[in-house]
Amino acid sequence: MKLNEIKLTNPYLKLPAECHDRVKPSPLTKPFLIHANEAVAEMLGIDKEELYTDEFVDFVNGAYQPEGSDAFAMCYAGHQFGFFVDRLGDGRAINIGTLNGLHMQLKGAGQTKYSRSGDGRAVLRSSIREYLMSEAMHGLGIETTRALALIGSEHSVFRQEWEKGAIVLRVSPSWVRFGTFEYFAHKKKFKELEALRDYAIAESYPHLIDVENAYARFFGEVVKRTARLMAEWQAVGFNHGVMNTDNMSIAGLTIDYGPYAFLDEYDAGYICNHTDQYGRYSFGNQPSIGEWNLRALMAALSPLIQMEKMEENMTQYWKIYREHYLKLMCRKMGFDEVLDGDLDLVKHMLGTLQGLHIDYTLFFRTLSRYTGDRAGILKLGLYHKPMQDWLDDYDKRLAQNSSTQQEREERMLQTNPKFVLKNYMLQEVIDAAEKDDFSLIDRLFRIVQDPYAEHPAYERWAGATPDELKNTKLSCSS
Ligand code: AMP
Ligand code: MG
Repeated sequence: MKLNEIKLTNPYLKLPAECHDRVKPSPLTKPFLIHANEAVAEMLGIDKEELYTDEFVDFVNGAYQPEGSDAFAMCYAGHQFGFFVDRLGDGRAINIGTLNGLHMQLKGAGQTKYSRSGDGRAVLRSSIREYLMSEAMHGLGIETTRALALIGSEHSVFRQEWEKGAIVLRVSPSWVRFGTFEYFAHKKKFKELEALRDYAIAESYPHLIDVENAYARFFGEVVKRTARLMAEWQAVGFNHGVMNTDNMSIAGLTIDYGPYAFLDEYDAGYICNHTDQYGRYSFGNQPSIGEWNLRALMAALSPLIQMEKMEENMTQYWKIYREHYLKLMCRKMGFDEVLDGDLDLVKHMLGTLQGLHIDYTLFFRTLSRYTGDRAGILKLGLYHKPMQDWLDDYDKRLAQNSSTQQEREERMLQTNPKFVLKNYMLQEVIDAAEKDDFSLIDRLFRIVQDPYAEHPAYERWAGATPDELKNTKLSCSS
């Protein structure tokens, strides 16, 4: 489809008026295309050639509105670092409409009713991070929002200093957050709360429409998807950084990429967000915060769904999480199936990695090629004894596999990425982009779309993070 053939719908606008506020995007000055995502264009049904036209830049900039566009911001609340904020909302994301079941949002397209003291803008560096990372998570098979395009501009935006504004056109099958429910529950607007529940079921859990116990089952499904998402993050070594309830998707997607990080060396206590003084959102805390957030959602849904039924669902959270996490970790270790005792082996391994300061991603990639010759793995850490001990147990466990070593290797190389989008790599790309060199964005984009492939030209990004670039922290101010 050509851009001028697009016909947008706006299902969210059918919800009561308090759920949203109509607002026109405020375009950036001198916009230009930095990158477009052809795979997402295909999902939307937009012709590839259209992505490289001036009209497309106008479209992403909010200056060109296709037929049916009726732009709006969504209202929500949320628990931020454990404290309830009664009104947040899309302060810098403007929804422009829905195409093929995907809701499009312009992030950084100006102020809305919910901007509070913010300028409604997003700077280039944070927009590059969101654009690339959502694609990287998708490349790793983790549920996430996506992005159609990234534009830059000459628009000045002030953070600690003057920077350039950018817009990411994000797409998602759902933008409803735990905090969206919290908003209406707190205001005791039960009619709106019911409408939102029915909307979320129709949008993300349509198999529950008109079935018995649909509402309790809806909550059960959210519990399940959240538990599974947490397991995926832990297995791949992803630290979200701002797991406020307004950043939790009712559809179980990774949303709102801020100061996130992939682990460099394994560290359960790692905190990527430098405003997170006490480590509430540290890597190791994520599954517990997932539960905390579900309990906040449970409180918000309590006027509509019996508490006992939701409690029953909550009892499943840790079971689902542990089972899924163990399954993923066993896959990463190359086991044909999960056996008793495997959890102990995982714990022993994580303790060993943490004690030896070993790069999490590199460890599994190296382990994928393990033939019994330990040299390659031992050289990842300074001391050998702890790893020798773990490998003794690992060897015994591998003996229980029925697949051949070659089959295991092939499988592990498709499970353990060679590349994850670490912060130091992003920083290199951002530094170049801030000097108007955008070429690295495309290179990184291609790598993260297929992180299991060798990409021999980028070997330097496949090793352990250089010491001086490890564990960088980022702030939310983007
Ligand atoms: P975040 O930490 O990015 O999830 O944002 C938390 C809340 O602050 C959301 O309601 C955002 O819409 C809002 N917000 C963040 N940055 C800005 C900004 N520059 N202008 C307006 N609102 C913002
Ligand atoms: Mg957010």
